[in-house]
Order: sequence, then C-alpha cells, then structure tokens
Amino acid sequence: MKLYEYQAKEILHKYNINVPKGEAVTDVEGATKIYNQLGTERCVIKSQVLAGGRGKGGGVRIVNTLEEVKDYTSKIIGSHLITSQTGEKGVLVNKVLVAEAIDIKKELYLAISIDRSASKITIISSTEGGTEIEEVSSKTPHKIFKEQINPLLGIRNFQVRQIAINLGLTGPLLTKASSLLKTLFKIFVENDCSLLEINPLVLTPDDEIVALDIKMEIDDNALFRHKDLLEMKDISDTGNVENVATEAGLSYIGLDGNIGCLVNGAGLAMATMDIIKLYGGEPANFLDVGGDAPVERITTAFEIIFTDPHVAGVLVNIFGGIMKCDIVAEGIIHAIEKVDIKVPLVVRLEGTNVEIARKMLNDSKLNIIFADSMKDASEKIIKAVNENK
Ligand code: ADP
Ligand code: MG
Repeated sequence: MKLYEYQAKEILHKYNINVPKGEAVTDVEGATKIYNQLGTERCVIKSQVLAGGRGKGGGVRIVNTLEEVKDYTSKIIGSHLITSQTGEKGVLVNKVLVAEAIDIKKELYLAISIDRSASKITIISSTEGGTEIEEVSSKTPHKIFKEQINPLLGIRNFQVRQIAINLGLTGPLLTKASSLLKTLFKIFVENDCSLLEINPLVLTPDDEIVALDIKMEIDDNALFRHKDLLEMKDISDTGNVENVATEAGLSYIGLDGNIGCLVNGAGLAMATMDIIKLYGGEPANFLDVGGDAPVERITTAFEIIFTDPHVAGVLVNIFGGIMKCDIVAEGIIHAIEKVDIKVPLVVRLEGTNVEIARKMLNDSKLNIIFADSMKDASEKIIKAVNENK
C-alpha cells in the first residue's frame, strides 16, 4: 500500500522528524484556510498523487500570495497530472498539500528499501537529491551509495556514520544525521515498510535537516497488524482505481490499450494479456478477480474496467477450477444488467460446469460473443473492437 506524501509526513512527524508544516485539503477554501494559518507568505502547494516527478510535471508550485494559492489550487484540483511516472493519461488530483516553503541549501537523497537478492534492508544515499534516482543511477552511478543492514544486528553506529559522511555531512550535522537515520530505520521496521524514500532530504541555511518529500509503501502482507495505517487508505479516492480494486479484493493494473480483461488468477491474466498482444491487440488492463469471484466482485470488476474511457471491448476469460463456471456466469449476467455494457463482450469459459454456464449465458439473451479457446477469444475480441471503431 502506497501512502500519500501528506500521510507519510504525519507518520514521520510523530517520530519527531522535521517535516514542513502543512495540511492536505480538497478545495480552494481549505487551501485558503491553511495558507492563512501557516502565516508565512511563501508556501508550497503540492498535488497529492501516488506518483513522483510532480515537480517537473507541474504538480508542485511555490506561491507567494493568497491569490496565487487560489489560482493554482483551483486549476490543479480536478485536473489530471501527467508526470514521468503516471503514463500519458495522468492521474486525477483530488487533494493538495499546502505547506510552508523551506529555504534549501542542499538537496540530498535517502531511501530505505529491501534488497531481495541479499535478503537485507538496504539504505541508499546520494548527494544528488531532488532528481529522480533512476536518472542519477544512469548518469552518475558512482554517486549512489548502498549500505546493507544485517537483520539480526540492526543498523550499527559505524554504518550510520558512513552514510552521513557519504552525504557530505560532518561536525554537528553528522550527529543530527545519525539520529535521523536511526529513527528512519526504526520507522521502516516498525511500520513494515517496503519503501521509505526521502527525496529531497534538504539541508537548510541554518543547518536543519528537513524531509521535503516522502514516498512510503507498506507491505500489504503486514497490513493486518497496522489497522491505523489501513485506515489511512483513501478508498473514496476514485482517481486511484487500483485502490478501489484492492478494497474490492481485485488486483487491477491499468495499461495503455483498449481491450479490457476480466480474468481469474494472476497466471491466466498474464497469459490473456500475452495472447491479446500476440494477435495484434492491446490490453487495457491486468485484472485478476481472484479464485472465488462472487457476483458483487465481478460487477465491481466490470465497473473498474469501464472507468478507463479507452476500453472498446472486454474479454472475459475464466477457468472454472475452484470456482464453478455457472457461478461466474451468474456474476456476468448480474454485472451486465447493472453496468450496461455498450462495447463488444467476448466470453471464454472453461472448466467445471461449463455447459450449464454456457446455457445460462445463452438463455440470458445478452449480447455476448462466445469463444472456445484463448486463441479464438483473442481473435474475436480484436475483430469486434476493430469493427466497432
Ligand atoms: P516530486 O518528487 O514528485 O517531483 P517533490 O516534493 O520532491 O516532488 O518536489 C519537487 C521539488 O520541489 C523539490 O525537489 C524541491 O526543490 C521543491 N519543494 C518541494 N517541497 C518544498 C517545500 N516544502 N519547500 C520548498 N521547496 C519545495
Ligand atoms: Mg521528490
């Protein structure tokens, strides 16, 4: 689960880490209120989306007057922000963080993540903060330092010192950086993070260290023991369809094509995407409804598929193993009645009770194109989508 910047800042603030004062709001009135409360002329308005590269993409703006606050907030909320990490469709901005602007002497990079190949937590640091780390990694890889932490020993003092020195922090700053690093490591472990990235971590002219931008991801498998974090999940945030899908028990990832896929099982979903591509089509999404998709989940799956305006046809590919085909057929019938599908729908069902399922779908008189094999299904949906253009 990815946290929004403002949520991650709340967590770090609880651990006494310096973050700019501010609050997230959903409209111009809210922004005005927070700007007035902050009481400093120079502030920053930051789009709250689960993607980086906002600065370059126009999603972060330094403002000096209330007029600018109102002007920028009204423009950015409700718009789609396109950054190097969002894809060409961009992501809907529902919230902005209004925060004090910090004077920056130097921007640094610091991240804690899990190095799976080493089975260790790794701390990545660089003096090249503010830029995306991928860019630093390709242009100046020697400026990136990695320190692996022994899971039994935890972070050691010599490691903390080494990281601070790599960041060019000496004297009193070394002491501050050391305590910051230890706290960040503690936050990472206590909250079962899979990523805690601070970019930039800034040095101010009076030698304070402030976390200006934070990306925090929690391991989904550990969420059951972090009810407080789970509550932060913004399920009303329909701009983030992946979030809505997770809440419904679906795995959904939006892609750039126009053929919606509704499949049970991650492996079959991958294979379906592959075969669509093989026959010249482009999948609009990866969608795994899970092994035991009840009617409501199938309905939600259709609704989620159609949040993407580019979807010009849907391929349902279900293998009835644990889940019987007739149950799926019932789900499809209910879903179609509710969602009112206006594009071609190809259904391929195979497995337990497939004959009953086919009969149910046939009798329903719904506008369904039946397919036998995966090859047949992908050819049919591609043809239908092309004819429908
Ligand atoms: P992203 O990583 O999505 O581009 P950041 O939060 O890192 O977004 O913001 C981009 C840049 O905007 C930062 O590198 C920094 O220079 C500036 N910035 C962000 N927040 C502040 C702030 N509170 N005060 C001053 N400058 C800021
Ligand atoms: Mg950043």
